[in-house]
Amino acid sequence: MTEPLIYEISASGRIGVNLPQCDVPESELPSELMRDELALPEVSELQVVRHFTRLSQRNFGIDTTFYPLGSCTMKYNPRLNEDVARYDGFAKLHPLTDEAGAQGALALMYQLQTWLAELSGFSRVSLMPAAGAHGELAGILMIRKYHADRGDTKRTKILVPNSAHGTNPATVTMAGFEAVELPSDENGDVDLEALRAACDDTVAGMMITVPSTLGVFEDQILEVIEAVHACGGLMYMDGANMNALMGIVKPGELGFDVMHYNLHKTFSTPHGGGGPGSGAVGVNEKLLPYLPGPIVDIVEAPQAEEAAPLYGWVMPEKSIGRVKAFHGNFGMHIRAYAYIRAYGGEGLKAVSEHAVLNANYIRVKLHEAYHVPYDRICAHEFVLEGRFKGVDEVHALDISKRLIDYGFHPPTNYFPLIVHEALMIEPTETEDKVTLDAFIDAMLHIAKEAHENPELLRSAPHEAPVSRVDEVRAAKQLVLCCQPALPQAETD
Ligand SMILES: *Cc1c(COP(=O)(O)O)cnc(C)c1O
Repeated sequence: MTEPLIYEISASGRIGVNLPQCDVPESELPSELMRDELALPEVSELQVVRHFTRLSQRNFGIDTTFYPLGSCTMKYNPRLNEDVARYDGFAKLHPLTDEAGAQGALALMYQLQTWLAELSGFSRVSLMPAAGAHGELAGILMIRKYHADRGDTKRTKILVPNSAHGTNPATVTMAGFEAVELPSDENGDVDLEALRAACDDTVAGMMITVPSTLGVFEDQILEVIEAVHACGGLMYMDGANMNALMGIVKPGELGFDVMHYNLHKTFSTPHGGGGPGSGAVGVNEKLLPYLPGPIVDIVEAPQAEEAAPLYGWVMPEKSIGRVKAFHGNFGMHIRAYAYIRAYGGEGLKAVSEHAVLNANYIRVKLHEAYHVPYDRICAHEFVLEGRFKGVDEVHALDISKRLIDYGFHPPTNYFPLIVHEALMIEPTETEDKVTLDAFIDAMLHIAKEAHENPELLRSAPHEAPVSRVDEVRAAKQLVLCCQPALPQAETD
């Protein structure tokens, strides 16, 4: 066993909390759940406050800095969302409360299911999955059950373009299928010939990220969908990045059978640091009976004109079952509901238009100083190469680290894999022109520095509390400590 970790500011006997008087009968905890060797730091309330406040100040967050982390949609989370999520009736509702006692929460979830379905052209949505990748798994398991129910057991493959998000092939494998990679053509679209050659009666479906990780919308999406349907496969759309599509295109109407949403991206609920997310999943009529559940439905129509319906939990007929304890991350459902309700349909369309405008603005301002391999009108994000002709020693990582000195969070690095030294930039709609211009200026400066003084980039960041770390060692030999960097008194 490894040594228990004791934080160095811990002092035996220090207490940071006052527990309220117990108002329920005391009972013994099961001994198998109790550990003696668990070393916890003993600290005062002030030490805890200082520790976490200091960490929060060292951190980059959307509330302090522009955060163009491609594919992650780091948009501002309006404070209205937080206010609503803290209403006592929501925040203090116990997940075991019976249906009759939770009608308000059920009404909210029902409305959110309905709005998400409407926004994307699907028949119904389950809010249960806890994150995007989790929604993907639920979706592919539905496809598996759909084929199994028809006795169609030959279908063992799922097609995945090489411009897909990394979670897509991982999901396919976890769901028990073989992931078959498809190449992209010179525009970054799926290579239609390769697709048609791969379509046969062993294909269960295709999983495609739209817009792709290159930030572009497939020109031939209808042909792609038709080819897969023609061989009996179903179409999965990775809809984590709906931020360019809301109010503009409905994936369900394009012909997709199933899609997940990332409420913690497009719908502004907070994320980062592995916090709770929500990967709601929507389906068309074909997959309706397989949705993970239970889901909220109206179980009794309103008795009078003004009355509310009665909501309840209903298990879809051939459901793949539960994918999460209780009902998903309800706090995220509240925030997404507040966000959609505050914007309304026209507002959400404007969100998408501004997200696309902002991304294209940066792309066009940077595409001379940096090489943009698929330089066409992009959706919510675009990818450029973080390397320069004649400056071999500078890599994408160096550009990212140098951006920290200019006060910006780096873009996504080394993803997608089909672009060398990729830097994936997603500004989102919540940034104004002044911020975008400041970021563009910093990127142009860095491009100049790369030619004039590459070492400046290679040793960056220079202004951050922690300079460049050996990322592998930092992860493998984690040294946790609480000690603040106190000003050191000069000794002699
Ligand atoms: C973020 C993202 C995912 C995964 O979502 P998680 O909530 O991180 O699991 C999947 N696909 C795409 C395109 C994404 O951007």
